Amino acid sequence: MTQVKAYAAEKADKPVGPFKIDRRDVGENDVEIEILFCGVCHSDIHTARNEWGGTMYPVVPGHEIVGKVSKIGDKVKNHKVGDTVGVGCFVDSCGHCDNCEDDLEQYCENGNSQTYNSKLQDKKTITYGGYSTHIVVTEKFVLKVSDKLDLAGVAPLLCAGITTYSPLKHWNCKKGDKVAVVGLGGLGHMAVKLASSMGAEVTMLSRSPEKEKDAEELGAHHFMLTTEKENMEKMANSFDLIINTVSAKHDYNEYLALLRTNGTMVLLGVPPEALPVAAPNLIFGRRSLVGSLVGGIKETQEMLDYCAEHNIVSDIEMINIDKINEAYERTLKGDVHYRFVIDMASLKN
Ligand code: NAP
Ligand code: ZN
Repeated sequence: MTQVKAYAAEKADKPVGPFKIDRRDVGENDVEIEILFCGVCHSDIHTARNEWGGTMYPVVPGHEIVGKVSKIGDKVKNHKVGDTVGVGCFVDSCGHCDNCEDDLEQYCENGNSQTYNSKLQDKKTITYGGYSTHIVVTEKFVLKVSDKLDLAGVAPLLCAGITTYSPLKHWNCKKGDKVAVVGLGGLGHMAVKLASSMGAEVTMLSRSPEKEKDAEELGAHHFMLTTEKENMEKMANSFDLIINTVSAKHDYNEYLALLRTNGTMVLLGVPPEALPVAAPNLIFGRRSLVGSLVGGIKETQEMLDYCAEHNIVSDIEMINIDKINEAYERTLKGDVHYRFVIDMASLKN
């Protein structure tokens, strides 16, 4: 075991602060990573504050990790010391259920090991995330990152990037499709960039008028304020696909009405409370309401390679780790442009 510096939430109502954790010794299939950057996902906040229930304190959040390989085990084949690598939302899975065999480790039938607030496959050892100087991960769950891209901007691809790429691919986003993205935050801005890169006609649906110019710069063709009733009426029956990233309570029914016949709304945001849906809003127009969870390891590598090829990274605001609680408050207010990323050098010093 090696003790490393980290930042943890020790209680739901306490700020995130300095903490020490043990990282396991590097096993034969393990990669040790010196973390350079870690993105701040809204899920970190939901978990640190126990908004979904089930937080195991102390929790060290962070699942948008980019760093350099600092040590490898004897049997590691795909990574070497000095390589630039990434780690996303999970660090292991059973490896033998139908979903794992289909490269869908995020839906592992025996329970995968999430990067934080979860247990390793021994079902005992608690996982700690990327708000720390180092992490040790089994090689299969370590992604290759191109040095061509700005590495701080790559970090958010490991969650916000794959979480939006995967449903765009699964629901076959293509040239000419009319795609709406709801909520311009970390996930939302990646959805806009990715959908427009795939040739879709993208509409940003936001409650924040000050984000209009940014939405266009990110690649949105249209911007609509959801707070204005007449806008919502005008857009009825307009979209093939809606990517919904909203993190808080809102009315799904209002957005279902915007789908064309056979259209699909994908829920990515996880509001803490259950929200009602009226059956006629799905029945009339044969509309689908679906959800999607991050993406598998193979698809995450495909997304990273796609982003390197198309020169896509996240728009970030870099912070030192001692500003993490302010970053949480600003994220909650929707004041993030469009992902906070922690410069992990600030934790070493
Ligand atoms: P974020 O950066 O805070 O963005 C959320 C955006 O939603 C805000 O910027 C805001 O956009 C909009 N919004 C917030 N509150 C709202 C409200 N009350 N009504 C309407 N719109 C509201 O969060 P994020 O990191 O993108 O994460 C978004 C959600 O996805 C979180 O719940 C997170 O836990 C979840 N998530 C899910 C997965 C998955 O695998 N499915 C993966 C990662 C994260 P506007 O100002 O433009 O309206
Ligand atoms: Zn996330």
